[in-house]
Amino acid sequence: MQVTFYGVRGSTPCACDGTRRYGGNTSCVVVTHPDMDPVVLDLGTGLRYFGNDLAGGGLAPGEAFQGTALVSHLHWDHVQGVPFFKPWLCEGSRLDVYGPAQEDGSLEDAVRSFIRPPYFPVTIDDLPGQVTITEAPEVFSLGPAEVRSAPVPHIGPTLGFRLTVGGTSVAFVPDHQQPGVGATYVDPTVLELCAGADLLIHDAQFDNDEFLTKADWGHCTVEYAVEVAAQAGVRRLALFHHDPSHGDGRVDELLAAARDYAGDRVEEIVAASEGLTVALSPAAPTPAAAAAAG
Ligand SMILES: [Zn+2]
Ligand SMILES: [Zn+2]
Repeated sequence: MQVTFYGVRGSTPCACDGTRRYGGNTSCVVVTHPDMDPVVLDLGTGLRYFGNDLAGGGLAPGEAFQGTALVSHLHWDHVQGVPFFKPWLCEGSRLDVYGPAQEDGSLEDAVRSFIRPPYFPVTIDDLPGQVTITEAPEVFSLGPAEVRSAPVPHIGPTLGFRLTVGGTSVAFVPDHQQPGVGATYVDPTVLELCAGADLLIHDAQFDNDEFLTKADWGHCTVEYAVEVAAQAGVRRLALFHHDPSHGDGRVDELLAAARDYAGDRVEEIVAASEGLTVALSPAAPTPAAAAAAG
């Protein structure tokens, strides 16, 4: 399994010199495996660059794209790339989108409501490619892959996902409300979703001082991301959903702080950056993973 980051920011795109190394596009990660079509985690502005990669050589001339998207929730930073995905201009392309049930109306109606005039010049139906939009079941299959979804504390209906294929798994929790200042409690549903994953991609928006003034904005500190990873017994943690105000140097500092806080509780911690590809292969579960799964 290969996991490639196309957008790693939270909240809003922030392309500038100060964010060039980690990147300024919002949430979009692509999982590939030889036995399945690509699976896209979130459809933030990074999606456009994945589409460009496909159009620039990933697809043969005239070849249509087939894939799946798992969308955590409908905040702008997680869906704003939707209308700019080049494969949709190709007849026969198809993207099956799964996301959270909404409080009012269907997920499909909610997505259609922001891809239409006056917000965008055309509707989804005007694109040559096909889109299906489905409320994500708790467990479902994509060919040989198993997908699990679970509710995650945030603001509004939000899911985390776990994708398992070929004996490896990646867990995706891009936005996660920390329960309080300095809190280490993790919702058991989230722990179960992440238990023993080979890679956890997790919200790491704030430092402790920022969290003090933004404690109810739906996010967490880098230390809390470490807590989730350690308690769930995951092997690797990718700090994700970087705050748009954090330049590259600040993200470096937060990565160092996360590693200090983790000690030997998490095998490897990285800060996600645009263009980073993580290759995952099966490994024996850790004792912490076995405990979290139980
Ligand atoms: Zn977000
Ligand atoms: Zn959000």
